[in-house]
Amino acid sequence: MQTIPSYLCDEWVTGAEPFETLLDPSTEEPLARASTVGLPVGPALEHARRVGGPALRRLSFQERGALLEAVSRALHGAREELIELAVRNGGNTRGDAKFDIDGATATLSAYAALGKQLGDKRWLLDGEPTEVAGARLQGWHVLAPRHGVAVHIGAFNFPTWGWAEKAACAWLAGVPVLTKPAPSTALVTWRSVELALQAGVLPAGTLSLLSGAPGELLDHVQWQDTIAFTGSSATGERIKSHPRVLASGARVNVEADSLNAAVLLPDAPPNVVDAFVRDVTRDITQKAGQKCTAIRRVLVPRALLEQVRERLCEALADVTVGDPSQDAVRMGPLTTALQRERFQAGVRELRTQTRVVFGEPAAQVQAAAPDKGFFVSPMLLEAAGALSAPRVHELEVFGPVATLLPYESVEEAAEAVRAGRGGLVSSLYGDDRQQLAALIEALSPWLGRLVVVDSKIADKSLAPGTVLPTLLHGGPGRAGGGEELGGLRGLRLYQQRTALQGNGGLLGKLVAVGS
Ligand code: NAP
Repeated sequence: MQTIPSYLCDEWVTGAEPFETLLDPSTEEPLARASTVGLPVGPALEHARRVGGPALRRLSFQERGALLEAVSRALHGAREELIELAVRNGGNTRGDAKFDIDGATATLSAYAALGKQLGDKRWLLDGEPTEVAGARLQGWHVLAPRHGVAVHIGAFNFPTWGWAEKAACAWLAGVPVLTKPAPSTALVTWRSVELALQAGVLPAGTLSLLSGAPGELLDHVQWQDTIAFTGSSATGERIKSHPRVLASGARVNVEADSLNAAVLLPDAPPNVVDAFVRDVTRDITQKAGQKCTAIRRVLVPRALLEQVRERLCEALADVTVGDPSQDAVRMGPLTTALQRERFQAGVRELRTQTRVVFGEPAAQVQAAAPDKGFFVSPMLLEAAGALSAPRVHELEVFGPVATLLPYESVEEAAEAVRAGRGGLVSSLYGDDRQQLAALIEALSPWLGRLVVVDSKIADKSLAPGTVLPTLLHGGPGRAGGGEELGGLRGLRLYQQRTALQGNGGLLGKLVAVGS
């Protein structure tokens, strides 16, 4: 069986027993094994700080951008191979795999273009100079790269985009990366990291890979390091409160889970209702619902409940579940046996407060091998009212399930969205400007991103679950409070903002040197 190596101190190394076995979730056949036992994690972080950091800081934004473009091209060049690997290792359909892989190359490319725009600079000015006391004494704010490592800890569901979107921001800021994927889909991460290294453009020490369990990783962080974590709220809390993380003062960014909502407004025109049904169906089934941005709560005016329920059930009935290597299949299995167990337990819990309107009997599975694979049926639940089922607003069930929530007034719909206690994204569907404006005001403090779909863009709007390099990703409250991407905002996590104070004329000339 293939052993997945790690890349530390610019060498491929392999951990010792015990190994974790990675399975094909469609057949349950072993694919590979991974271990981080005994690996030199502390020295690898130090190597990145001493060798990778200075090498990146010497480069201009334009030169760093050129590295990103080369890595993007290397991944794109092996797109078919990566798709095939994601189908086997992640249970992804081709469409699911493209969402991850193309997301990675597009994000790297978008940050490469930003680097090109910034040109010869090596660090950034933050705003204009300010007068401190009279015209002579002035202040500037500068943003310089931190001198630590970007320690990236990823979730299983985006094995390529997950590391690449974080690395794009860190590298462009001038900070080296150590990335740790979730073991279950680490085969895809390993191969995409190998391709990035094989592009032959990354300076020594700028990319390290720890393929498997975190082990003692956090015991070695230092205060100039930045930990960017993506995963569940529970793990995020554990990382933030890790004794070494607290004592060192390392910066921490948490991208956690979220109970994303979609709200259909009462007078939504027909093409907006179509977009709503399309987006909800896609989010239940794409990546078998294993998407942090997937719509989990479907808020519908009571008068439209029956119509929307019927249309969603029809659309879900059209989804073929099974072996994702078959062309007709539109939804593959969950990624691991544990994910399936958690999904089933979560649905059982939601069902104590809701009823099943789709998913019983379970969808027929076009399996690759009889009685094998971590398949589940897509499910649609329904609560009696928008606020009548508290667990729907508290529990993230990470799989193909969403709950219909009929509401009586737009104010009640807003209260229901807020009951999720902070989220990554939610979406509003309708044309009524007064209602849209009121909802934007009422919901913005609860959300990292709010998508508005009106009749003018309903046919061409992007799915709310699509994370874009130009827009902020992250959210307050249970979503972890983190911020990533959003163009240049994404570099902020890896930079120190420093106020420079002094002779305005002199400072103007000094800051011009690197910015
Ligand atoms: P998870 O169980 O929280 O694990 C995430 C990562 O954290 C894995 O690499 C895991 O490695 C690592 N980890 C666990 N304990 C750790 C510790 N004590 N120290 C350091 N690292 C540790 O999440 P998951 O099951 O992989 O992913 C699903 C969750 O991620 C869902 O809740 C989903 O909503 C969320 N998610 C959020 C976003 C976002 O952008 N906000 C994106 C994707 C997914 P091991 O497995 O080796 O322990």
